[in-house]
Amino acid sequence: MNRHLSTRARETPPSGIRRFFEVAEEMDDVISLGVGEPDFSAPWAARTAAIDSLERGRTSYTSNRGRRDLREAIADRVERYDQYYDPDDEILVTSGASEAVDLAMRALVDPGDAVAVPEPSYISYTPTVSFAGGDPLPVRTRAEEEFALRYEDLERAGAADAETLVLCYPNNPTGAVMSEDGLAEVAEFVEEHDLFVLSDEIYAALRYEDEHTSIATLPGMRERTVVFNGFSKAYAMTGFRLGYALGPPEVIGAMNRIHQYTMLSAPTTAQYAAIEAIKACDDAVEEMRRAYDRRRRFVISRFNELGMDCFEAKGAFYVFPKCPPGWEDDEAFAEALLQEEQVALVPGRVFGESGEGHLRVSYATGMNELKAALNRIESFLRE
Ligand code: PMP
Repeated sequence: MNRHLSTRARETPPSGIRRFFEVAEEMDDVISLGVGEPDFSAPWAARTAAIDSLERGRTSYTSNRGRRDLREAIADRVERYDQYYDPDDEILVTSGASEAVDLAMRALVDPGDAVAVPEPSYISYTPTVSFAGGDPLPVRTRAEEEFALRYEDLERAGAADAETLVLCYPNNPTGAVMSEDGLAEVAEFVEEHDLFVLSDEIYAALRYEDEHTSIATLPGMRERTVVFNGFSKAYAMTGFRLGYALGPPEVIGAMNRIHQYTMLSAPTTAQYAAIEAIKACDDAVEEMRRAYDRRRRFVISRFNELGMDCFEAKGAFYVFPKCPPGWEDDEAFAEALLQEEQVALVPGRVFGESGEGHLRVSYATGMNELKAALNRIESFLRE
């Protein structure tokens, strides 16, 4: 059978996260701080809108770009980040931010183009660059900088020769955010070397100390940036599979040309839910954000108490502590913790070399489970 598979399919490794969790799923009484998915259900108003659309029989395709009223709602929503996009030709509704990432790679990357990917990195960028025929160029960010991307990091990695730069702040897997000054530094590099930017801002609404700034709002950046966002994280709507891309008409148009053949349109029921999410669910989003913030403070202080150095991540729902003293190898630590105490964390190396020696911990899990998991880690360390 294998001979029928394409070289690309054969060469695509399973996701490091999945591989780890397949083991965890076989075990009893596991507490998983591994998945990057809210533990909340979607806000009730969004679910009702989905049900209502089904009752009315709204089960057809929508326009390729997504329903016009949804694109208008998205345009209104992103104004809070000073992002101004025309619903006609600067917004594309996609099947999750995941589809938007894939479309942008295919619309912008030619075979042999280098795409700079800051690491530790969300696991989809490198494979989607490869699917488009491009060459992923890892850019190491550093724990000493709390994993914010610096001008020197780009320089050192040779990103000057890249065509495209991927950004993801607030970051998965580290929880790092970028200040406006930090982004200005990156924007300077981008302009100097004429790069195009793919900015994944799916965690924009999950910031705990200050407001999100998009690199696209910095001078000169709008015309060279595509922004990804979606409903999975802020609205706890992962299963609805709905996201969007914002960008210059030429690029959004090119992405739509690929989208119309590969997806036709994003899920219709989800689009009705998303309109309601934007219009009626700000309070629900804020409530979830506050709950994440309480958990965030708790896990950071517990890890530091236990001697697992954990910087104060200010966004998304991840922290990225170091392995405890005596444990250099994150994979060995995660494996031993899973076997001994049935706590599942993701080894940092899954997200690139600069994640080695760290662990990704998701706090999109109830407070009781977080407390129990940290107690188990404490007893593991004592032994
Ligand atoms: N980008 C990042 C950084 C993510 O963490 C995720 C989800 N894990 C996605 C994109 C994909 O989100 P969606 O459900 O909208 O496809």
